[in-house]
Amino acid sequence: MNLAVVGTGYVGLVAGTCFAESGNDVVCVDIDERKIALLKDGKIPIYEPGLEEMVRRNTEEQRLSFTTDLDSAVQKSTIIFIAVGTPQGATGRANLEYVRATAKGIARAMNSFKIIVTKSTVPVGTADRIKEWVAEECSQPFAVITNPEFLKEGAAVEDFMKPDRVVLGGNDPEALEAVKELYEPFVRTGNPILVMDSRSAEMSKYAANAMLATKISFINEVSCLCEEMGADISEVRRAIALDRRIGPHFIFPGVGYGGSCFPKDIRAMISMGGEAPEMLLLKAVEQVNERQKATLVDKVRRHFGADLSGLTFAVWGLAFKPRTDDMRDAPSITVIEALLQAGAEVQAFDPEAIAEAKKVFGDRIRYAARNYDALKGAAALLILTEWNEFRRPNFQRVKQLLKTPVVFDGRNIYDPADLRKLGFKYYSIGRNHG
Ligand code: NAD
Repeated sequence: MNLAVVGTGYVGLVAGTCFAESGNDVVCVDIDERKIALLKDGKIPIYEPGLEEMVRRNTEEQRLSFTTDLDSAVQKSTIIFIAVGTPQGATGRANLEYVRATAKGIARAMNSFKIIVTKSTVPVGTADRIKEWVAEECSQPFAVITNPEFLKEGAAVEDFMKPDRVVLGGNDPEALEAVKELYEPFVRTGNPILVMDSRSAEMSKYAANAMLATKISFINEVSCLCEEMGADISEVRRAIALDRRIGPHFIFPGVGYGGSCFPKDIRAMISMGGEAPEMLLLKAVEQVNERQKATLVDKVRRHFGADLSGLTFAVWGLAFKPRTDDMRDAPSITVIEALLQAGAEVQAFDPEAIAEAKKVFGDRIRYAARNYDALKGAAALLILTEWNEFRRPNFQRVKQLLKTPVVFDGRNIYDPADLRKLGFKYYSIGRNHG
Protein backbone atom coordinates (compact mmCIF):
# COMPACT_ATOMS: atom_id res chain seq x y z
CA MET A 1 0.00 0.00 0.00
CA ASN A 2 1.25 3.51 -0.81
CA LEU A 3 0.76 5.88 2.10
CA ALA A 4 1.49 9.50 2.86
CA VAL A 5 1.74 10.91 6.38
CA VAL A 6 1.50 14.69 6.59
CA GLY A 7 3.16 16.14 9.69
CA THR A 8 6.38 14.41 10.70
CA GLY A 9 6.40 15.06 14.45
CA TYR A 10 6.17 12.72 17.42
CA VAL A 11 3.06 11.06 16.00
CA GLY A 12 3.59 11.31 12.23
CA LEU A 13 7.17 10.06 12.26
CA VAL A 14 6.33 7.11 14.49
CA ALA A 15 3.19 6.21 12.52
CA GLY A 16 4.94 6.55 9.14
CA THR A 17 7.91 4.49 10.26
CA CYS A 18 5.79 1.75 11.81
CA PHE A 19 3.64 1.51 8.68
CA ALA A 20 6.84 1.18 6.63
CA GLU A 21 8.08 -1.47 9.06
CA SER A 22 5.04 -3.58 8.20
CA GLY A 23 5.86 -3.42 4.49
CA ASN A 24 4.04 -0.34 3.18
CA ASP A 25 5.66 2.33 1.03
CA VAL A 26 5.42 5.49 3.09
CA VAL A 27 6.27 9.08 2.30
CA CYS A 28 6.38 11.46 5.26
CA VAL A 29 5.66 15.10 4.48
CA ASP A 30 6.42 18.19 6.54
CA ILE A 31 6.56 21.92 5.87
CA ASP A 32 9.60 22.19 8.13
CA GLU A 33 12.49 22.01 5.68
CA ARG A 34 15.09 21.63 8.41
CA LYS A 35 13.28 18.59 9.80
CA ILE A 36 13.01 16.95 6.39
CA ALA A 37 16.68 17.67 5.60
CA LEU A 38 17.71 16.04 8.90
CA LEU A 39 15.56 12.98 8.22
CA LYS A 40 16.90 12.64 4.71
CA ASP A 41 20.32 12.67 6.31
CA GLY A 42 19.37 9.71 8.52
CA LYS A 43 19.00 11.77 11.71
CA ILE A 44 15.79 12.05 13.68
CA PRO A 45 14.73 15.44 15.06
CA ILE A 46 13.25 14.03 18.31
CA TYR A 47 14.32 11.59 21.00
CA GLU A 48 12.14 8.49 20.99
CA PRO A 49 13.59 5.12 22.07
CA GLY A 50 14.03 2.66 19.19
CA LEU A 51 12.87 5.08 16.51
CA GLU A 52 16.16 6.15 14.91
CA GLU A 53 17.21 2.57 14.15
CA MET A 54 13.82 1.81 12.61
CA VAL A 55 13.83 4.97 10.50
CA ARG A 56 17.31 4.11 9.21
CA ARG A 57 16.39 0.52 8.35
CA ASN A 58 13.22 1.45 6.49
CA THR A 59 14.87 4.32 4.67
CA GLU A 60 17.70 2.04 3.54
CA GLU A 61 15.15 -0.50 2.32
CA GLN A 62 13.46 2.32 0.41
CA ARG A 63 10.07 1.87 2.03
CA LEU A 64 10.30 5.16 3.88
CA SER A 65 11.07 8.57 2.40
CA PHE A 66 10.76 12.22 3.39
CA THR A 67 9.69 15.26 1.45
CA THR A 68 8.31 18.77 1.68
CA ASP A 69 6.43 18.20 -1.58
CA LEU A 70 2.83 17.50 -0.56
CA ASP A 71 1.50 17.30 -4.13
CA SER A 72 3.67 14.41 -5.27
CA ALA A 73 3.15 12.58 -1.96
CA VAL A 74 -0.63 12.83 -2.31
CA GLN A 75 -0.64 11.82 -5.96
CA LYS A 76 1.26 8.59 -5.41
CA SER A 77 -0.66 7.55 -2.25
CA THR A 78 -4.02 5.91 -1.71
CA ILE A 79 -4.27 6.67 1.99
CA ILE A 80 -3.13 10.01 3.40
CA PHE A 81 -2.79 10.56 7.13
CA ILE A 82 -3.08 13.99 8.70
CA ALA A 83 -0.75 14.08 11.74
CA VAL A 84 -0.09 17.81 12.09
CA GLY A 85 -0.25 19.65 15.39
CA THR A 86 -3.51 20.86 16.96
CA PRO A 87 -2.11 23.22 19.60
CA GLN A 88 -4.12 25.24 22.02
CA GLY A 89 -5.70 28.25 20.37
CA ALA A 90 -7.18 31.38 21.89
CA THR A 91 -9.84 30.65 24.56
CA GLY A 92 -8.49 27.10 24.97
CA ARG A 93 -10.07 25.69 21.82
CA ALA A 94 -7.94 23.45 19.59
CA ASN A 95 -6.35 25.43 16.80
CA LEU A 96 -7.34 23.70 13.55
CA GLU A 97 -5.37 26.01 11.27
CA TYR A 98 -2.77 23.31 10.42
CA VAL A 99 -5.39 20.61 9.86
CA ARG A 100 -7.35 22.92 7.60
CA ALA A 101 -4.26 23.92 5.59
CA THR A 102 -3.31 20.25 5.23
CA ALA A 103 -6.81 19.16 4.19
CA LYS A 104 -6.98 21.91 1.58
CA GLY A 105 -3.46 21.16 0.37
CA ILE A 106 -4.32 17.47 -0.03
CA ALA A 107 -7.52 18.39 -1.89
CA ARG A 108 -5.68 20.65 -4.34
CA ALA A 109 -3.22 17.85 -5.15
CA MET A 110 -5.78 15.03 -5.49
CA ASN A 111 -5.83 13.31 -8.89
CA SER A 112 -8.03 10.28 -8.01
CA PHE A 113 -10.00 8.70 -5.12
CA LYS A 114 -8.17 9.18 -1.80
CA ILE A 115 -8.77 8.10 1.78
CA ILE A 116 -7.93 10.93 4.16
CA VAL A 117 -7.29 9.72 7.71
CA THR A 118 -7.20 12.15 10.63
CA LYS A 119 -4.67 11.05 13.21
CA SER A 120 -4.29 14.45 14.87
CA THR A 121 -6.39 14.95 18.01
CA VAL A 122 -9.32 17.02 16.75
CA PRO A 123 -12.54 18.35 18.31
CA VAL A 124 -15.74 16.46 17.74
CA GLY A 125 -17.21 17.40 14.38
CA THR A 126 -13.86 17.98 12.65
CA ALA A 127 -14.32 15.07 10.21
CA ASP A 128 -17.38 16.88 8.84
CA ARG A 129 -15.42 20.11 8.51
CA ILE A 130 -12.58 18.30 6.72
CA LYS A 131 -15.10 16.93 4.21
CA GLU A 132 -16.29 20.50 3.55
CA TRP A 133 -12.75 21.87 3.25
CA VAL A 134 -11.76 19.16 0.77
CA ALA A 135 -14.97 19.49 -1.26
CA GLU A 136 -14.38 23.26 -1.53
CA GLU A 137 -11.07 22.60 -3.31
CA CYS A 138 -11.66 19.62 -5.58
CA SER A 139 -14.25 17.42 -7.25
CA GLN A 140 -12.37 14.10 -6.93
CA PRO A 141 -14.08 11.40 -4.84
CA PHE A 142 -12.70 10.89 -1.33
CA ALA A 143 -13.48 9.44 2.11
CA VAL A 144 -12.55 10.81 5.53
CA ILE A 145 -11.74 8.41 8.37
CA THR A 146 -11.01 9.43 11.96
CA ASN A 147 -8.20 7.44 13.56
CA PRO A 148 -7.12 8.99 16.88
CA GLU A 149 -3.66 8.08 18.13
CA PHE A 150 -3.12 6.76 21.66
CA LEU A 151 0.68 6.31 21.71
CA LYS A 152 2.73 7.57 24.64
CA GLU A 153 5.92 9.51 24.06
CA GLY A 154 8.81 7.51 25.48
CA ALA A 155 7.19 4.22 24.43
CA ALA A 156 5.72 5.39 21.14
CA VAL A 157 7.11 2.70 18.85
CA GLU A 158 6.01 -0.11 21.14
CA ASP A 159 2.58 1.47 21.62
CA PHE A 160 2.11 1.87 17.89
CA MET A 161 3.29 -1.65 17.08
CA LYS A 162 1.16 -3.19 19.84
CA PRO A 163 -1.82 -0.89 20.45
CA ASP A 164 -4.34 -1.73 23.19
CA ARG A 165 -6.95 -0.92 20.56
CA VAL A 166 -7.27 0.89 17.25
CA VAL A 167 -10.19 3.27 16.85
CA LEU A 168 -11.62 4.05 13.41
CA GLY A 169 -14.47 6.43 12.81
CA GLY A 170 -16.35 6.96 9.55
CA ASN A 171 -19.16 5.73 7.38
CA ASP A 172 -17.50 4.63 4.13
CA PRO A 173 -17.29 0.79 4.38
CA GLU A 174 -14.57 0.38 1.75
CA ALA A 175 -12.37 3.10 3.20
CA LEU A 176 -12.83 1.68 6.70
CA GLU A 177 -11.88 -1.76 5.43
CA ALA A 178 -8.73 -0.41 3.72
CA VAL A 179 -7.54 1.34 6.89
CA LYS A 180 -8.46 -1.71 8.97
CA GLU A 181 -6.26 -3.86 6.75
CA LEU A 182 -3.39 -1.47 7.32
CA TYR A 183 -3.66 -2.08 11.06
CA GLU A 184 -4.08 -5.88 10.91
CA PRO A 185 -0.34 -6.58 11.38
CA PHE A 186 -0.37 -4.61 14.66
CA VAL A 187 -3.29 -6.45 16.28
CA ARG A 188 -2.32 -10.04 15.69
CA THR A 189 -2.52 -10.81 19.40
CA GLY A 190 -6.23 -10.10 19.26
CA ASN A 191 -6.46 -6.51 20.45
CA PRO A 192 -9.53 -5.01 18.78
CA ILE A 193 -10.02 -2.56 15.96
CA LEU A 194 -13.10 -0.63 16.99
CA VAL A 195 -15.18 0.87 14.20
CA MET A 196 -17.64 3.62 15.06
CA ASP A 197 -18.99 6.92 13.79
CA SER A 198 -16.45 9.73 13.42
CA ARG A 199 -17.83 11.88 16.26
CA SER A 200 -17.52 9.04 18.75
CA ALA A 201 -13.99 8.32 17.53
CA GLU A 202 -13.01 11.97 17.95
CA MET A 203 -14.55 12.05 21.43
CA SER A 204 -12.80 8.79 22.44
CA LYS A 205 -9.40 10.42 22.25
CA TYR A 206 -10.38 13.39 24.41
CA ALA A 207 -12.22 11.15 26.87
CA ALA A 208 -9.16 8.91 27.24
CA ASN A 209 -6.83 11.83 27.95
CA ALA A 210 -9.38 13.45 30.27
CA MET A 211 -9.70 10.22 32.28
CA LEU A 212 -5.92 9.93 32.61
CA ALA A 213 -5.51 13.57 33.66
CA THR A 214 -8.35 13.10 36.15
CA LYS A 215 -6.54 10.16 37.73
CA ILE A 216 -3.41 12.28 38.14
CA SER A 217 -5.25 15.22 39.66
CA PHE A 218 -7.20 12.87 41.91
CA ILE A 219 -4.12 11.24 43.40
CA ASN A 220 -2.39 14.62 43.69
CA GLU A 221 -5.33 16.04 45.59
CA VAL A 222 -5.37 13.03 47.93
CA SER A 223 -1.60 13.49 48.42
CA CYS A 224 -2.17 17.08 49.61
CA LEU A 225 -4.64 15.82 52.16
CA CYS A 226 -2.23 13.05 53.23
CA GLU A 227 0.42 15.65 53.97
CA GLU A 228 -2.00 17.67 56.02
CA MET A 229 -3.37 14.70 57.96
CA GLY A 230 -0.11 12.79 58.50
CA ALA A 231 -0.95 9.91 56.14
CA ASP A 232 1.44 8.50 53.54
CA ILE A 233 0.24 8.60 49.92
CA SER A 234 2.50 5.66 48.97
CA GLU A 235 0.67 3.42 51.41
CA VAL A 236 -2.71 4.82 50.38
CA ARG A 237 -1.86 4.29 46.72
CA ARG A 238 -0.90 0.65 47.34
CA ALA A 239 -4.12 0.08 49.22
CA ILE A 240 -6.43 1.51 46.58
CA ALA A 241 -4.48 0.06 43.62
CA LEU A 242 -5.36 -3.47 44.76
CA ASP A 243 -9.02 -2.74 44.24
CA ARG A 244 -9.59 -4.13 40.78
CA ARG A 245 -12.11 -1.42 40.00
CA ILE A 246 -9.30 1.13 40.52
CA GLY A 247 -6.09 -0.66 39.49
CA PRO A 248 -2.43 0.35 39.85
CA HIS A 249 -1.94 2.49 36.74
CA PHE A 250 -1.64 6.24 36.53
CA ILE A 251 -2.17 6.96 40.22
CA PHE A 252 1.31 8.21 41.07
CA PRO A 253 1.45 11.61 42.77
CA GLY A 254 3.92 14.16 41.44
CA VAL A 255 4.46 17.73 40.32
CA GLY A 256 1.42 17.76 38.06
CA TYR A 257 0.78 16.58 34.52
CA GLY A 258 2.26 18.33 31.50
CA GLY A 259 3.33 17.50 27.98
CA SER A 260 2.02 18.21 24.55
CA CYS A 261 -1.37 16.55 25.04
CA PHE A 262 -3.05 16.55 28.45
CA PRO A 263 -3.05 20.31 29.14
CA LYS A 264 -4.25 21.34 25.69
CA ASP A 265 -6.69 18.45 25.29
CA ILE A 266 -8.31 19.11 28.67
CA ARG A 267 -8.70 22.78 27.76
CA ALA A 268 -10.06 21.86 24.31
CA MET A 269 -12.59 19.55 25.91
CA ILE A 270 -13.64 22.20 28.40
CA SER A 271 -14.27 24.64 25.57
CA MET A 272 -15.67 22.12 23.08
CA GLY A 273 -19.34 22.36 23.94
CA GLY A 274 -19.22 26.04 24.84
CA GLU A 275 -21.05 26.63 28.11
CA ALA A 276 -23.44 23.68 27.89
CA PRO A 277 -22.79 21.37 29.46
CA GLU A 278 -20.20 23.06 31.64
CA MET A 279 -17.26 20.71 32.18
CA LEU A 280 -17.26 20.98 35.97
CA LEU A 281 -15.01 18.02 36.69
CA LEU A 282 -12.42 18.87 34.05
CA LYS A 283 -12.20 22.46 35.25
CA ALA A 284 -11.39 21.10 38.70
CA VAL A 285 -8.85 18.66 37.22
CA GLU A 286 -7.06 21.60 35.65
CA GLN A 287 -7.18 23.71 38.82
CA VAL A 288 -5.77 20.88 40.92
CA ASN A 289 -2.99 20.47 38.38
CA GLU A 290 -2.07 24.16 38.49
CA ARG A 291 -1.94 24.03 42.29
CA GLN A 292 0.15 20.86 42.19
CA LYS A 293 2.78 22.44 39.94
CA ALA A 294 3.32 25.05 42.69
CA THR A 295 3.63 22.62 45.63
CA LEU A 296 7.32 21.82 45.31
CA VAL A 297 8.38 25.47 45.24
CA ASP A 298 6.08 26.10 48.24
CA LYS A 299 8.13 23.49 50.09
CA VAL A 300 11.36 25.15 48.94
CA ARG A 301 10.09 28.49 50.24
CA ARG A 302 9.01 27.02 53.54
CA HIS A 303 12.51 25.60 53.99
CA PHE A 304 14.65 28.48 52.69
CA GLY A 305 12.31 31.48 53.05
CA ALA A 306 10.43 33.47 50.41
CA ASP A 307 13.52 35.25 49.09
CA LEU A 308 15.75 32.72 47.37
CA SER A 309 18.32 35.19 46.07
CA GLY A 310 21.89 34.08 46.50
CA LEU A 311 20.83 30.42 46.42
CA THR A 312 21.45 27.96 43.60
CA PHE A 313 19.22 24.94 43.05
CA ALA A 314 20.11 21.75 41.21
CA VAL A 315 17.34 20.30 39.05
CA TRP A 316 17.37 16.72 37.81
CA GLY A 317 14.88 16.21 35.01
CA LEU A 318 13.39 18.78 32.64
CA ALA A 319 11.31 16.79 30.14
CA PHE A 320 7.64 16.41 31.04
CA LYS A 321 8.27 12.72 31.60
CA PRO A 322 11.12 10.21 31.24
CA ARG A 323 12.28 8.78 27.89
CA THR A 324 11.36 11.86 25.89
CA ASP A 325 12.97 15.19 25.05
CA ASP A 326 9.55 16.89 24.88
CA MET A 327 9.39 20.08 26.97
CA ARG A 328 5.93 21.23 25.88
CA ASP A 329 4.02 22.35 28.98
CA ALA A 330 6.49 20.49 31.22
CA PRO A 331 5.93 21.09 34.96
CA SER A 332 9.68 21.87 35.16
CA ILE A 333 8.91 25.15 33.38
CA THR A 334 6.53 26.30 36.14
CA VAL A 335 8.88 25.16 38.90
CA ILE A 336 12.02 26.72 37.42
CA GLU A 337 10.26 29.97 36.54
CA ALA A 338 9.05 30.23 40.15
CA LEU A 339 12.58 29.64 41.48
CA LEU A 340 14.01 32.29 39.16
CA GLN A 341 11.22 34.67 40.10
CA ALA A 342 12.16 34.28 43.76
CA GLY A 343 15.75 35.26 42.93
CA ALA A 344 17.33 31.79 42.81
CA GLU A 345 19.80 30.43 40.28
CA VAL A 346 19.26 27.05 38.64
CA GLN A 347 21.66 24.37 37.37
CA ALA A 348 19.80 21.67 35.50
CA PHE A 349 20.49 18.27 34.03
CA ASP A 350 18.32 16.10 31.80
CA PRO A 351 19.56 13.08 29.81
CA GLU A 352 17.74 14.09 26.61
CA ALA A 353 15.88 17.38 26.93
CA ILE A 354 18.69 19.95 27.28
CA ALA A 355 18.43 21.14 23.67
CA GLU A 356 14.66 21.60 23.97
CA ALA A 357 15.05 23.23 27.41
CA LYS A 358 17.46 25.78 25.94
CA LYS A 359 14.63 26.93 23.65
CA VAL A 360 12.55 27.60 26.78
CA PHE A 361 15.04 29.03 29.28
CA GLY A 362 17.87 30.27 27.04
CA ASP A 363 20.78 31.38 29.21
CA ARG A 364 18.62 32.14 32.24
CA ILE A 365 19.69 28.83 33.79
CA ARG A 366 22.89 26.76 33.59
CA TYR A 367 22.91 23.33 31.96
CA ALA A 368 25.03 20.52 33.34
CA ALA A 369 26.61 17.88 31.12
CA ARG A 370 26.25 15.17 33.81
CA ASN A 371 23.78 14.81 36.67
CA TYR A 372 26.41 15.19 39.41
CA ASP A 373 27.75 18.39 37.79
CA ALA A 374 24.41 20.08 38.44
CA LEU A 375 24.86 19.60 42.19
CA LYS A 376 28.08 21.61 42.67
CA GLY A 377 27.46 24.37 45.19
CA ALA A 378 23.67 23.98 45.12
CA ALA A 379 21.58 24.55 48.24
CA ALA A 380 19.28 21.65 47.36
CA LEU A 381 18.41 19.11 44.69
CA LEU A 382 14.98 19.07 43.05
CA ILE A 383 13.80 15.94 41.21
CA LEU A 384 11.32 16.92 38.50
CA THR A 385 11.38 13.95 36.09
CA GLU A 386 11.75 10.34 37.19
CA TRP A 387 14.42 9.21 34.72
CA ASN A 388 15.68 5.74 35.74
CA GLU A 389 19.23 6.96 36.13
CA PHE A 390 18.17 9.24 39.01
CA ARG A 391 16.69 6.39 41.04
CA ARG A 392 19.83 5.06 42.69
CA PRO A 393 22.50 7.75 42.74
CA ASN A 394 25.59 7.67 44.93
CA PHE A 395 24.08 9.62 47.83
CA GLN A 396 27.45 10.19 49.52
CA ARG A 397 28.58 11.96 46.37
CA VAL A 398 25.31 13.91 46.19
CA LYS A 399 25.83 15.01 49.80
CA GLN A 400 29.42 16.06 49.21
CA LEU A 401 28.57 18.14 46.16
CA LEU A 402 25.54 19.94 47.63
CA LYS A 403 26.14 22.89 49.92
CA THR A 404 23.39 21.66 52.21
CA PRO A 405 21.96 18.11 52.07
CA VAL A 406 18.39 18.93 51.09
CA VAL A 407 16.32 17.06 48.48
CA PHE A 408 12.90 18.06 47.13
CA ASP A 409 11.62 15.01 45.33
CA GLY A 410 8.71 15.86 43.05
CA ARG A 411 8.34 12.25 41.89
CA ASN A 412 8.66 10.25 45.12
CA ILE A 413 11.55 8.17 43.77
CA TYR A 414 13.43 7.82 47.08
CA ASP A 415 12.60 6.23 50.39
CA PRO A 416 12.15 8.91 53.07
CA ALA A 417 13.65 6.69 55.80
CA ASP A 418 16.77 5.95 53.69
CA LEU A 419 17.34 9.61 52.93
CA ARG A 420 16.89 10.61 56.55
CA LYS A 421 19.37 7.94 57.63
CA LEU A 422 21.89 9.29 55.12
CA GLY A 423 21.56 12.72 56.73
CA PHE A 424 19.40 14.45 54.14
CA LYS A 425 16.49 16.75 54.82
CA TYR A 426 14.05 15.11 52.42
CA TYR A 427 10.77 16.48 51.11
CA SER A 428 8.48 14.54 48.79
CA ILE A 429 4.84 14.52 47.73
CA GLY A 430 2.22 13.48 50.25
CA ARG A 431 4.54 11.37 52.35
CA ASN A 432 5.93 13.47 55.15
CA HIS A 433 5.65 16.84 56.80
CA GLY A 434 8.17 18.81 54.77
P1 NAD B 1 4.46 17.84 16.47
O1 NAD B 1 4.40 19.27 16.75
O2 NAD B 1 5.58 17.01 17.02
O3 NAD B 1 4.42 17.57 14.90
C1 NAD B 1 3.56 18.22 14.03
C2 NAD B 1 4.27 18.39 12.70
O4 NAD B 1 3.36 18.88 11.74
C3 NAD B 1 5.43 19.40 12.75
O5 NAD B 1 6.61 18.77 12.30
C4 NAD B 1 4.99 20.52 11.81
O6 NAD B 1 6.06 21.10 11.11
C5 NAD B 1 4.08 19.75 10.87
N1 NAD B 1 3.14 20.58 10.12
C6 NAD B 1 2.38 21.63 10.54
N2 NAD B 1 1.65 22.11 9.53
C7 NAD B 1 1.92 21.36 8.45
C8 NAD B 1 1.47 21.38 7.10
N3 NAD B 1 0.56 22.26 6.68
N4 NAD B 1 1.98 20.46 6.25
C9 NAD B 1 2.90 19.57 6.66
N5 NAD B 1 3.37 19.50 7.93
C10 NAD B 1 2.87 20.39 8.81
O7 NAD B 1 3.05 17.25 16.97
P2 NAD B 1 2.75 15.80 17.56
O8 NAD B 1 3.15 15.73 18.99
O9 NAD B 1 3.26 14.77 16.60
O10 NAD B 1 1.16 15.81 17.52
C11 NAD B 1 0.43 15.75 16.30
C12 NAD B 1 -1.02 15.48 16.64
O11 NAD B 1 -1.17 14.21 17.28
C13 NAD B 1 -1.65 16.49 17.60
O12 NAD B 1 -2.99 16.68 17.26
C14 NAD B 1 -1.55 15.80 18.95
O13 NAD B 1 -2.53 16.24 19.86
C15 NAD B 1 -1.78 14.36 18.55
N6 NAD B 1 -1.21 13.36 19.44
C16 NAD B 1 0.03 13.56 19.96
C17 NAD B 1 0.59 12.59 20.79
C18 NAD B 1 1.96 12.78 21.40
O14 NAD B 1 2.30 12.03 22.32
N7 NAD B 1 2.76 13.73 20.94
C19 NAD B 1 -0.11 11.42 21.08
C20 NAD B 1 -1.37 11.24 20.50
C21 NAD B 1 -1.91 12.22 19.68
